[in-house]
Amino acid sequence: MTRLPMPESQNGGAGGGKAITIAGGGLCGLALGIALRRADIPVEVFESGAYPRHRVCGEFICGVSDATLDALGIRDLLDQGTPLNSFSWHSPRRCLIASELPTPARGLSRFALDLALARRLEGLGATLHTRSRAPSPPESGEGFIDTSGRARTRGRKWVGLKIHFKQLDLDSDLEMHAGNGGYIGLSRIEDERVNACGLFLHRPGLGGGGPDTLPRYLEACGLQTLAERLRAHPRDESSFTAIAGFEMGAVPPSHHNTLRLGDARMMIPPFTGNGMSMAFESAATALETIRKHSRSYLTWKRVIHDTESALASRFSSRMRAASLLHPLLLHPTLRAPLSLLATLRLLPTAILFKALRN
Ligand SMILES: Cc1cc2nc3c(=O)[nH]c(=O)nc-3n(C[C@H](O)[C@H](O)[C@H](O)COP(=O)(O)OP(=O)(O)OC[C@H]3O[C@@H](n4cnc5c(N)ncnc54)[C@H](O)[C@@H]3O)c2cc1C
Repeated sequence: MTRLPMPESQNGGAGGGKAITIAGGGLCGLALGIALRRADIPVEVFESGAYPRHRVCGEFICGVSDATLDALGIRDLLDQGTPLNSFSWHSPRRCLIASELPTPARGLSRFALDLALARRLEGLGATLHTRSRAPSPPESGEGFIDTSGRARTRGRKWVGLKIHFKQLDLDSDLEMHAGNGGYIGLSRIEDERVNACGLFLHRPGLGGGGPDTLPRYLEACGLQTLAERLRAHPRDESSFTAIAGFEMGAVPPSHHNTLRLGDARMMIPPFTGNGMSMAFESAATALETIRKHSRSYLTWKRVIHDTESALASRFSSRMRAASLLHPLLLHPTLRAPLSLLATLRLLPTAILFKALRN
């Protein structure tokens, strides 16, 4: 590591240090901001939206360790989520597998979680600008961190849809339904609600907008029974959100001197239920190098280099596993061997689960 001379005023952990600007107040940006403030580093966060707000997300949090959440100083906030212990996987016609989750998970709405993180960040003395787009990074990129989420594209290959239901009984804490050209997770969250969130290949003419778009997409994927079940239950229309125009996988950098974390660097396919965990893990991975930079121990170039290598070794194998499995879920012929293995109780769920989180 490149060590720079340490200024007298900053060698006793007395507080202060170089300020950090964070572009994007989602999970990664807020968690990182909290952790930096806990180290007494000046932090400014720009968020284009406002809190609380619903987001397209399965709200199923699984894989992040308690040690990571403790390092960020946010474990108590996640512990407010609903404990989730079981899952089931369904084809259009039947339940293929029902089992305990290999690792317990949490269900917590983004409406509640992002608000709780934002309040903690402000409580720790950070400046949080809402309804404010981030400024451009300085040419050197120094002290500027991009956590602005998934990369936008012009094409509309994917559509993400989400809405909360009340009084909806589930077969397990997380029901996964795979259809032709899309899948959806139904997962318990706080207040005895169920979050229904799906990813679909875009079908022109099906949009229409509004909450009925979700059952229409389910029908188009061959999931008619599920569409009827959801239509029969009360839903919270204000929680409906939709997104389109994004890509999964690694995001090419637009500015080489900017440190990118969370979905802004790489988006894992949503079926893994691991994107939120990766957002927290990437914040925790970057924490120490940013802290050293702020205290003038480390150049910004070194921060980017060291963080990138640490993130690559932490995430590359789960990204590979997710990219291999994702197409299998969407296509009936490719999905058939997996469905057969599940029916015969030969699907190595614990191994797959681990491969998508290690
Ligand atoms: C359909 C779907 C289902 C999913 N289900 C799950 C799941 O069940 N479990 C799971 O773990 N993950 C899931 N994910 C993934 C998860 O939502 C993301 O991985 C996670 O939100 C990434 O966090 P982030 O902080 O990187 O980005 P985000 O949470 O997207 O935050 C980015 C923030 O930046 C803000 N922003 C954007 N541009 C600017 C700008 N120019 N200036 C200022 N602010 C800006 C945005 O408003 C946003 O608040 C799902 C994703 C999709 C699409």
